[in-house]
Amino acid sequence: MIPAQFDYQAPATLEEAVSLLASDLDGAKILAGGHSLIPAMKLRLAQPQLLVDIGRIKSLAYIREEGDEILIGATTTHYQLESSDLLQRICPLLPDCAKSIGDVQVRNKGTIGGSLAHADPAADWPAAVLALGAELVLVGPKAERTVKAEDFFVDLFTTDLQPGEILREIRIKKPSGRFGQSYQKAPHPASGFAVVGIAVHLGLNDDGSCKAAAIGVTGVDVKAYRAKGVEAALSGTTIDDDAIAQASLHVCDGVDPNSDLYASSEYRGQLARVHMRRAIQAAKAKAQ
Ligand SMILES: Cc1cc2nc3c(=O)[nH]c(=O)nc-3n(C[C@H](O)[C@H](O)[C@H](O)COP(=O)(O)OP(=O)(O)OC[C@H]3O[C@@H](n4cnc5c(N)ncnc54)[C@H](O)[C@@H]3O)c2cc1C
Repeated sequence: MIPAQFDYQAPATLEEAVSLLASDLDGAKILAGGHSLIPAMKLRLAQPQLLVDIGRIKSLAYIREEGDEILIGATTTHYQLESSDLLQRICPLLPDCAKSIGDVQVRNKGTIGGSLAHADPAADWPAAVLALGAELVLVGPKAERTVKAEDFFVDLFTTDLQPGEILREIRIKKPSGRFGQSYQKAPHPASGFAVVGIAVHLGLNDDGSCKAAAIGVTGVDVKAYRAKGVEAALSGTTIDDDAIAQASLHVCDGVDPNSDLYASSEYRGQLARVHMRRAIQAAKAKAQ
């Protein structure tokens, strides 16, 4: 449980962090909240030669509105998202998701950027950013680029981040019109990670029928995904109990649910269907 030896740098700016990373593309790693990387280092699953600590770059932690977007800095902690009055008002799915993560200590130190970059298949944030159609801003030594959340998660613990790139910001279109959101999760009893996590954004027509649904699922596959079968089945319905039950059956379309010591593939699939139903019902109940 003791990490291999490493060097440590705490840059004061993002530019400095990018150039430190570029100085050792194979051996350097970003450190944010440290709540995934440090355990991996203690188990020697990760053995970086240099840690570039972006947790001390104050300008990387923020939540603000700009035009029709919500901008979130990568080192914003789970707790800052959980306790944001602004988000509670304009995009309650984010605090709803944040409050389900781990325990108080994890939420105080862990960051949204670290969680997305780590791409743990049982992490909560990936489901939420998929349901919100977020874009992620990545900055590297040569340029900055923007990637849709849907294209960011590539495989197990693998994202579209290229060597030397840092996730700088998460951008989300402010939800508008009539909508309801919910995050429902079956937490692992030991860690709190999602055995299944379902993030739902429901857009409603004036008569209460479903205009469009956007749904992110985590914990079920090797990476988080959009439940497009459920979205299509819900669209245009009155979102009554029958429509919700029928649509929820599509949560594992095209996916062979993960199996582990805690949950078999069959059990996880059933948990996903049940939590999908609950999440849609809760989003509908919260719709204004
Ligand atoms: C006991 C415990 C319980 C937990 N429970 C949950 C849970 O219920 N749900 C959940 O979702 N998570 C859970 N977590 C994980 C937690 O949310 C972590 O904080 C999160 O996964 C990683 O964020 P971090 O800021 O700690 O990243 P770090 O551990 O610092 O970094 C993680 C990885 O991402 C890279 N990285 C970090 N920031 C960036 C960036 N901006 N750009 C590019 N790469 C970057 C690092 O190089 C590293 O590879 C738990 C962790 C613990 C220890």
